[in-house]
Amino acid sequence: MIQLHDLHFKPFLSAQQISDAVNNLAYQINRDHKEDRPVFLGILNGSFMVMADLVRRFEGDCETAFIRTKSYEGTKSTGTIQLDMDLDISLEGRTVIIVENIVDTGLTVVSLSRKLKQHNPQHLKIATLFLKPEVYNRELEIDYVGQNIENKFVVGYGMDYNNLGRNLPELYVQAKQMKNIVLFGPPGAGKGTQAERLKEKYGLVHISTGDVFRYNIKNATELGKLAKTYIDKGNLVPDEVTINMLKAEVEKHPEAKGFIFDGFPRTEAQATALDGLLESKDTQVSGMVALEVDDEVLVERLLERGKSSGRADDANESVIRDRIKVYYNETAPLKDFYQKQNKYYGVDGVGSIDEITDRLSVEFDKL
Ligand code: AMP
Repeated sequence: MIQLHDLHFKPFLSAQQISDAVNNLAYQINRDHKEDRPVFLGILNGSFMVMADLVRRFEGDCETAFIRTKSYEGTKSTGTIQLDMDLDISLEGRTVIIVENIVDTGLTVVSLSRKLKQHNPQHLKIATLFLKPEVYNRELEIDYVGQNIENKFVVGYGMDYNNLGRNLPELYVQAKQMKNIVLFGPPGAGKGTQAERLKEKYGLVHISTGDVFRYNIKNATELGKLAKTYIDKGNLVPDEVTINMLKAEVEKHPEAKGFIFDGFPRTEAQATALDGLLESKDTQVSGMVALEVDDEVLVERLLERGKSSGRADDANESVIRDRIKVYYNETAPLKDFYQKQNKYYGVDGVGSIDEITDRLSVEFDKL
């Protein structure tokens, strides 16, 4: 997966597959126009790569020229194109082959083709490396196509997202845009309370591994019985058990716009497993948003919560201190894990519930 500006893209066509498509295009043009000394007219900026590769495969004499158009703002077609018609070559009586890297609606090539007809070429052909047949308006025949592709926004091999990505030798396609947030912080930081509010506000699925364990304990499942032996002592449930449980929870929500992970990951092995799981779904962790709270405030809050939560692990100060210790030894290093990827966002976790929701929302909005 790669990132350009704010968007993520996943591999779509390899350099070899692109080369095969160029060969296919070159074969058809050689077959029809090898002896015609054509003018290959590349449409800038996107076609510079395919022009370079295509003319090297052309077996006769040819001339090359470029013309500039612009029809995309970001990932959406703007519906209008700008043409820069300053051609430094006469097209009168020539075989002209317009070279595009990609044709989707056809707006650019169709308008360009109309304008070029006024220059009286003998033949005017359109060649495109990629065509999106699902959206092409078919006002004109496309004479030569390297390969048909699905209607997806692609970058690489000359194509860009806001000017980045043109240099990539492979083609990439936009990955699903999910908001997957790891809500982080020591026990008692307020993750559960805040996650409940934020899931409503952002339409996300909230998965609390602690809640899932408690649900299993209450229902005396095998998983619950196993987890209880660790949880009551303030220790972590083994990674393998927790990771499998988390995967099963994620699988229950195939249509989710994103997840708030609360209490997961708690170890580096879990963080790596989460990356793998999300990658397999063409998405990734958007960021870790952490509630930062001092230890003594945590102990006080958890003892207070223990009076009403019915949680055995909240009632006893030594278990609470053990949980905080486990957090510093095993979980806190994850800050580093996400910081290295520029995905760590710390938030002051002391204040009213509303104030903290507002502070967290500032970070959620950015992701
Ligand atoms: P929590 O409700 O997040 O404070 O979790 C309560 C307890 O459940 C923890 O102290 C652990 O024993 C266990 N637990 C919850 N999430 C995890 C996790 N990701 N890995 C291991 N143990 C966990």
